Amino acid sequence: MKIAFAASEVVPFAKTGGLADVAGALPLALEKLGEEVIIIMPAYKAVKKAAFKMLSSKEGISYSIIGKNIKVYFIESDCYFNRDGLYQDKGLDYPDNLERFAFFCKRSIDLLKEINFRADIIHAHDWQTALVPVYLKTLYAKDPFYKNTRTVLTIHNIGYQGLFSKGEFPKTGLDWSLFNIDGLEFYDRVNLLKGGMEFCDIINTVSPTYSKEIQTKEFGFGLEGVLTKRRNRLFGILNGVDYSIWGPQNDKFIVKNFSPKNIKDKYQNKLGLQKSCNLPLRSDLPLLGIVSRLAEQKGFDILAEAIDSICKMDLQLVILGTGDPKYHEILGDMVKIYPKVISLNLKFDDTLAHNIYAGSDIFLMPSRYEPCGLGQIISLKYGTIPLVFATGGLADTVNADNGFSFNTYSSEELVKTIKKATAAFSDNKIWAKLVAQAMHCDFSWDESAKIYIQLYAKAKQV
Ligand code: ADP
Repeated sequence: MKIAFAASEVVPFAKTGGLADVAGALPLALEKLGEEVIIIMPAYKAVKKAAFKMLSSKEGISYSIIGKNIKVYFIESDCYFNRDGLYQDKGLDYPDNLERFAFFCKRSIDLLKEINFRADIIHAHDWQTALVPVYLKTLYAKDPFYKNTRTVLTIHNIGYQGLFSKGEFPKTGLDWSLFNIDGLEFYDRVNLLKGGMEFCDIINTVSPTYSKEIQTKEFGFGLEGVLTKRRNRLFGILNGVDYSIWGPQNDKFIVKNFSPKNIKDKYQNKLGLQKSCNLPLRSDLPLLGIVSRLAEQKGFDILAEAIDSICKMDLQLVILGTGDPKYHEILGDMVKIYPKVISLNLKFDDTLAHNIYAGSDIFLMPSRYEPCGLGQIISLKYGTIPLVFATGGLADTVNADNGFSFNTYSSEELVKTIKKATAAFSDNKIWAKLVAQAMHCDFSWDESAKIYIQLYAKAKQV
């Protein structure tokens, strides 16, 4: 099958979150299974500045290669993409995001024709590329080049929908007749994700549990009606992790590589992390790690409520992340009170992220909702025991054999579960068993990629 990915961020070129990991790793797994894949993404400033080998097939079309022969095409636009941020600047969304991504979606479809790639499937991701299915069924409906092309739209997080004021609708280039309840209208505003969900051939999301949750009022963010209407076209496939990047045996960023056979070496990483974070070098204390956007979705509301009690326990906490200034402040205040307990790193730092996964004992991820979540899956491979709220992909990947979870979303339950985990940590036998079981979990892309191929086949039958 010929598959074209249209994504707004792709590892290793540009990343703000899990979408980039998926858009960079799933194509590699599909290629291994014999599929022909290309990827299309915007040529952000960071992409242009980075030292990737750029090739050019024709005037104005540049690409790079990942895997064996996956071409990653970069859509150029000085006015839309030659900026420092992907979607925002200093926490504020760019005011022309609708125009930017409408442009990207159209150019992606046109590019397929320019390079003569008759895609069986265009796989779009999140609101940024949700206009691809809409355009294909409207503006391009009569173009024979795309006659056999079907679309799959993956929702990585339904909390982000691409909402714009009604006045911006003409910038999509679509007819006003599509601004209605069965189209892109959402309470008198433009909703790009909703448009994609209405027009794509298959909708899917990144874990089976989340695909059920988003059909409810509590998790659907107002789109539960559309999803229930299309539920026979809605699927959930768990994300994998690329273990060639996220594996303790071959990780290039960590202090000392390790495997289940020489688990002692993991503790060199713990010491290294304590050292680099200016924490006391204590192998006896449980070290809790967080790598996350600092957002309410990620559980920072209950964490902020519980943080004082947590800091009073015998443990250490390393936090890496950026996000809501409110949490920067609350956590910053805690560091002043408990400098020997918390290390706060308010930045995006891939190297430190690898070192936290490798050097921590427990990985804290109490997300209020979590479509799939990569942090807990990565941490398992490093023998760092996840502690999660049982929701979405966290519920699908963490259980009593490999981690700790709680079922009522509250700061009290969070504290209780941390106490339970730290008590287990102090029993070497119990902990060693848990670590071994965690490291043996396998969430590589191989299995999920096979299920994606079945999903593409389903889309072709539509
Ligand atoms: P999200 O909802 O943010 O996409 P995921 O768990 O699916 O959450 O993916 C987050 C990805 O981003 C993981 O690979 C995680 O390691 C990485 N990440 C998050 N915050 C940071 C940070 N501050 N520095 C480095 N990597 C980060």
